[in-house]
Amino acid sequence: MTNNNMFFIANWKMYGNTGNIIKSTTVIKLANTKKYKNHKIIYCPPYTLLNAFYKKVKNSNISIGAQNCHANSDFGAFTGSINTKLIKSTGAKYIIIGHSENRNNNDETNLIINKKIKSALSENLKVVFCIGEKLSDKKNKNTYNVLKKQLKIGLKGIKNFNNIIFAYEPVWSIGTGIIPKRTELIRNINNVIKIINKLKKSINPKILYGGSVNPKNAKELAQIKEINGFLVGGASLNAKKFIDIIKKTYN
Ligand code: PEP
Repeated sequence: MTNNNMFFIANWKMYGNTGNIIKSTTVIKLANTKKYKNHKIIYCPPYTLLNAFYKKVKNSNISIGAQNCHANSDFGAFTGSINTKLIKSTGAKYIIIGHSENRNNNDETNLIINKKIKSALSENLKVVFCIGEKLSDKKNKNTYNVLKKQLKIGLKGIKNFNNIIFAYEPVWSIGTGIIPKRTELIRNINNVIKIINKLKKSINPKILYGGSVNPKNAKELAQIKEINGFLVGGASLNAKKFIDIIKKTYN
């Protein structure tokens, strides 16, 4: 049975404008209804829209998050960069860290990700920590080792995982329309849980799935009991599709 407190995180990537914010009114209405009030709906727009979006949702059941940050928690001479203090000042409560588009395009290493997570936690931001294997890792049967390394280094020296949500996102599934087979997904998520429990005993980690979630596959994915919600990219820019994903999860 589907969980009653799922996360629906919208990752707008480098898209979006104030028009998209206005369209989110329909999502706000849904989030404020009794049926959905226990769910966590979080919008992660580009940095430039964070504060405008926060103003739009601040009296609603919706929260705002950033998509990345600079690894330095202090202010400094880092032209064009945004640290977690600046993110916090926009009203954001969440932050996505370790997204594969940053790992792969911006040379973000596991160690840099570890610094970013520490910086976010020190500002009391909730972290959406993304992990996932590339297609070549999957083909080489290296998924377990890749996930283990990402988790081990990413979480190094962090004592409390309470403010960390894990997003398992197979890189080959992001933006491709392809989702993992049910058995593969359950196996990988259970491995993620096992690895986290080895690093820190007695926590009950929240694991989200991300990769081509859409209104057609949301219901099937949500029936996997290990999944506590979705990180949605492309489909989240369209308020109707995003609402459909949320509704399909429960119908
Ligand atoms: C993402 O950006 O994290 C993502 C899952 O994208 P998409 O839903 O478009 O595959």
